[in-house]
Amino acid sequence: MGAKGTIEHATLACHRCGRETRHELAYAGRLLVVTTCLTCRTSIERDVRRRYLQDLRHRMLSKPARMARRLRRHPVGFTGSLPRTAARKPWRLLDEVRLVWSAAADARRRHSDDGGRDR
Ligand SMILES: [Zn+2]
Repeated sequence: MGAKGTIEHATLACHRCGRETRHELAYAGRLLVVTTCLTCRTSIERDVRRRYLQDLRHRMLSKPARMARRLRRHPVGFTGSLPRTAARKPWRLLDEVRLVWSAAADARRRHSDDGGRDR
């Protein structure tokens, strides 16, 4: 799986290991998309496409307004803050989109394959 999104780590209970293990959490923006147990490599994908698109639209819409407001208030300081504002680059978004969509596909496949296995 190529797309990674933003990776964080946490100790969580894994039902396969039957104990608390280190997990890798992959986020797209602020949405948790994939949780992977680093001991047994079991991953749980979430289909967050709808929420991600809402979130993305919100991010796209709110950013120009925020930047314009800042420009009006601090014409000089604005240029200094540009690198941080531009931190979310297009390839970063593309990576998030790939992560969200591949996780959604995996989540769907699992639901249809799994045939009601007890967790
Ligand atoms: Zn595990």
